[in-house]
Amino acid sequence: MMAVRVVGSVNVDIVAQVERIPAPGETVLARSVERLAGGKGANQAVAAARMGAETAMIGAVGDDEAGGWMRAQLAEAGVDVAGLGTLAGAQTGTAYIAVDDAGENQIIVAAGANAQVSVPVVAAGGVLLAQLEVPIDALAPAFAEAGRLRMLNAAPPVAEARRLFGDVDVLIVNQHELAIFLDLPATPRTVEEALVARGLIGRPDQVVVVTLGAGGALAVWADRHLHVPAMPVVPIDTIGAGDCFCGALAAQLDAGIALEAALPVANAAAALCTQVRGAAPAMPTRAAVDAFVA
Ligand code: ATP
Repeated sequence: MMAVRVVGSVNVDIVAQVERIPAPGETVLARSVERLAGGKGANQAVAAARMGAETAMIGAVGDDEAGGWMRAQLAEAGVDVAGLGTLAGAQTGTAYIAVDDAGENQIIVAAGANAQVSVPVVAAGGVLLAQLEVPIDALAPAFAEAGRLRMLNAAPPVAEARRLFGDVDVLIVNQHELAIFLDLPATPRTVEEALVARGLIGRPDQVVVVTLGAGGALAVWADRHLHVPAMPVVPIDTIGAGDCFCGALAAQLDAGIALEAALPVANAAAALCTQVRGAAPAMPTRAAVDAFVA
């Protein structure tokens, strides 16, 4: 049975709108505070499910009210939450986010239950999709097993994660992560500069996908590359665009679509995601993406 199995973080995002980000020692008043579903794992699972893939979330929440709320948010988006553990005595991962009027943000993350995620034997077949907000030791055994397409969004850029790269089939990084993993003096800005991504892979059957923001996406194989320009949109809020791209790409690949054909679809989904505020709530449906590219 094909499915996208997302191993990753589940967070509650507490988002405060402020006039300006407080300086150290300063107190500012929030204009509004919202609670939103978040965490890279949860965002990517919601994106894959909305794009029509049978999607399961593997991760952990605490046995607090926020954990029950996140479980319900994921289930409502059509994500199978049977593999989402509830850890007694743990707090659900929480991101405290301040966003100012210029769109600048400041984020404090309490990993909570995400730091205690352990991964059971993941069923063969389909797609495994992970990020780096859960312990790398928990991810390693799942990536060591073949028999599924293994996708890693190497974000946030934890240096230690390089040891997983040899077991990854599709590695996804943004420009910033690319620079960190390759220890580059400057962030690659153009397609030509981003071809250095080839340095992250070793096998001819591996591919690195570099997301280039308004520059679209670039796939780099050992012997060729493919650049897909971004869809022309005026972004309202790019939060979650990278997660949307990963989830949508996983859904396409799970459906047996070749990467060359899957990239433009993921690119279009991520462009649509920039048109709606928030992360998980901004993930588009398959129908919306089809209408957008038609
Ligand atoms: P974020 O942290 O904002 O979620 P990211 O830094 O991980 O995102 P980006 O490379 O900025 O990732 O964006 C991911 C994808 O979103 C891009 O490859 C592209 O498909 C889409 N995207 C982002 N910004 C734009 C834009 N201005 N116009 C159109 N598409 C965009």
